[in-house]
Amino acid sequence: MYDINQVREDFPILSRKVYDKPLVYFDNAATTQKPLCVLDAMREEYLNVNANVHRGVHWMSQQATELHEQARETVRRFLNAKSTTEIVFTRGTTEGLNLVASTFADECMQEGDEVIVSTMEHHSNIVPWQLQARKKGIVLKVIPMSDDGILDMEAYRSLFTEKTRIVSVCHVSNVLGTVNPVKDIVRIAHEHGVPVMIDGAQSAPHFKVDVQDIDCDFFVFSGHKVYGPTGIGVLYGKEAWLEKLPPYQGGGEMIEHVSFEHTTFERPPLKFEAGTPDYIASHGLAMALDYVTKLGMDNIAAHEQELTRYAIQRLQEIPEMKIYGKLRVEELRDENDYNRRKEGYGFDAVGKNSQLLSSNSQHLSSNSQLSTFNSQLSTFNSQLHDAVVSFNVGNIHHMDLGTLLDRLGIAVRTGHHCAQPLMDRLGVLGTVRASFALYNTKEEIDTLVAGIDRVRKMF
Ligand code: PMP
Repeated sequence: MYDINQVREDFPILSRKVYDKPLVYFDNAATTQKPLCVLDAMREEYLNVNANVHRGVHWMSQQATELHEQARETVRRFLNAKSTTEIVFTRGTTEGLNLVASTFADECMQEGDEVIVSTMEHHSNIVPWQLQARKKGIVLKVIPMSDDGILDMEAYRSLFTEKTRIVSVCHVSNVLGTVNPVKDIVRIAHEHGVPVMIDGAQSAPHFKVDVQDIDCDFFVFSGHKVYGPTGIGVLYGKEAWLEKLPPYQGGGEMIEHVSFEHTTFERPPLKFEAGTPDYIASHGLAMALDYVTKLGMDNIAAHEQELTRYAIQRLQEIPEMKIYGKLRVEELRDENDYNRRKEGYGFDAVGKNSQLLSSNSQHLSSNSQLSTFNSQLSTFNSQLHDAVVSFNVGNIHHMDLGTLLDRLGIAVRTGHHCAQPLMDRLGVLGTVRASFALYNTKEEIDTLVAGIDRVRKMF
């Protein structure tokens, strides 16, 4: 485990004051703060190596190109992709989702064809498909969820038809923190010959993601949520898919040869990277990924799970507290029990959790046993939670609570969190969301709880 005090020194912004109060930054699901190594590396590149990449024969251009391509290798390692040709730089999760929705619909979908998404999607995994629905008449099907914010896997199975072409779901909900059983989701889709895109905006920052283990066809995330700069993101795509899909935008970098009569395109990933890439940000992202890798993704996950557990426990002490989509706190309280249950299912880490499925299925003699086991496994996987807690307190409007907490120096997010269909499902207009990062502490959670209590007493 890392030294939290030392880590906090890497993020000078954390020691600033807001309204003369020490800042408590709990809006990490929106964006994370940046460690000095990221800021220094980007400044250093602008100061010493700045030149456009890929085209120049001169020294600086070659240096900049090398940093940019090294960054691609760092991302490949971070996701455990097979090859750097599977790593496309984008502007963020949103652009990655739009890129796939648009090119996939162009190449692989016709009027009446279906895409499966879930109730808990961010707007950026709903609206791009709706744009395709308008253009091409494709149809969105939605996986329902329980009141606890767990996807209904039986309903998911039943959504597949002859016309299902792709599944596109979030790995972790940015509102509920539910970790979805993506390995099961992928396996079931592949049984139908259907590819899967995973929105990893809220998973990549929090635990080790292995795209080969998940076996997803596409995976997207944003640099700024993993302690990297804004304006850079990643689309992972299996090589065969990136070869098959057409370019998204046209321009420089992505072509092989252009004439007025006929243009040929570069191979992936450059085929999808029209124009000058943000090569400074890619370097910054690589520094951020090196930083979290050095701390250890498992250490980060353990620290954040501990914070989440503590937050849920403490928040529940507040009268009229309603927390959305979480394990009951008594299930969370006993860490040993939690670990025992995990071992009971034979997996040791989020992301590795379905490995046992194939080995266990050999011991389960009947289909019904297997089906019960699968559904238990799915439910348990879903219950693993991520570093997000969404809540409301009594009749206090979420905006009022957020605004008053801000006055106490506590930054939380309020509103619909770009997930209005999920708000509809929960029957609320919005929530207050506290989201945690590797540098947050239990003392900060105590400050939040005391702050909420103070606000509550004002109403
Ligand atoms: N999906 C999820 C689950 C998210 O949490 C977010 C960011 N809130 C996005 C997509 C969009 O990310 P970005 O705005 O960085 O493109």
